[in-house]
Amino acid sequence: MDLHAFFRDEAIETYGEASLTALSERDRGYVKEFFPPGESVIVFGEAVPAEAYSLNARDQTKIMLGIAEGLNDAAIRLESMLDGEGIPARHIPLYLPIRIEDGRVRGVVRLKQVAAAAGLGAPGKSTLLLNREHGARLILSGVVTGESNLIKTNSVQKQENAEDHANQNPDICIGCGKCIKACPAGAIGPDGVEVFRCRTISPWVPGPVVPIAKWLIGRQLLLRCIAPIAPWIAKTATIRCSRCVTECPVFGGRNWTQE
Ligand code: SF4
Ligand code: SF4
Repeated sequence: MDLHAFFRDEAIETYGEASLTALSERDRGYVKEFFPPGESVIVFGEAVPAEAYSLNARDQTKIMLGIAEGLNDAAIRLESMLDGEGIPARHIPLYLPIRIEDGRVRGVVRLKQVAAAAGLGAPGKSTLLLNREHGARLILSGVVTGESNLIKTNSVQKQENAEDHANQNPDICIGCGKCIKACPAGAIGPDGVEVFRCRTISPWVPGPVVPIAKWLIGRQLLLRCIAPIAPWIAKTATIRCSRCVTECPVFGGRNWTQE
C-alpha cells in the first residue's frame, strides 16, 4: 500500500505516523482505549491560510470548518482503504468524543501530542501545536491503525522529516509568552488552556453551567446527548478569537516575519 500516493491524491502535504511506542504512556492508553487493536496513528493536517485570519469571524469559521470536514472525509476514506487491505483502522472523529481529565476538556486521542510524536511540530506555550512551516495554523485529523510503519521509512516525506530536525525541535516555540498575554480571557495557563474560558467556547457554556457541563462530559452523558447535534453546533458557532494563533511570532512558520 502506498500511503504517499493516497495523500498525494488527497492533496495533503503534511502527514506522518507515530507508532504507539513513540507516544507517552498516557497517550498510548488513550489510543488503546479508543481502538484496542491500535498500534500506530497516522496523523495529517492542512494549514488554515494566513489570510483567513483577517476575514470576519463567520467567513473565517467557514474556511476552518471546511478544512476540518475535508480532513475528516479523508480520514474516513483512509480507514476504508486500510480496512480493504485487511488492516484494522478507525478514524478519529471530527466532533466527538472528548473527555474531562484533571478538570480540563481533552480529546480522547490527543492529536496534537500524536502529531508532535510523528514529527509534524512541537507544542508551544499556548499548548497549540507549532509546525515549522505553518505555525499554529494546522488543523489535524488522524486514523488509528492496527499495524505500524505503514508510511515507509524510505519515503520522501519520512526523509524530509528525518532531516528536518527543526520540525521535531521543541524550540519552534521561542517562549516569548505573547500568546498568554494576548488571550483576552486569561484562558492560557502553565497547565494548558481552560477550554470553557476560551472566547470561542464560553458563549456556548456560560460560567455557572461549566461545573455541571464538566460533570456531564465526565460521565459521557452530555456527549451522548449532544453528539447528534454536534455538527450543527459546529456550523452555527463562530471562531470568536484566534489571538493565541495570530499573535504568535511563529504564526506563519518558523521563518515568518511579521510586518
Ligand atoms: S482563542 Fe482567544 S480566548 Fe481562546 S485561548 Fe486563544 S487567545 Fe484565549
Ligand atoms: S506566542 Fe511565543 S510563547 Fe506563545 S506559542 Fe508562540 S512562540 Fe511560544
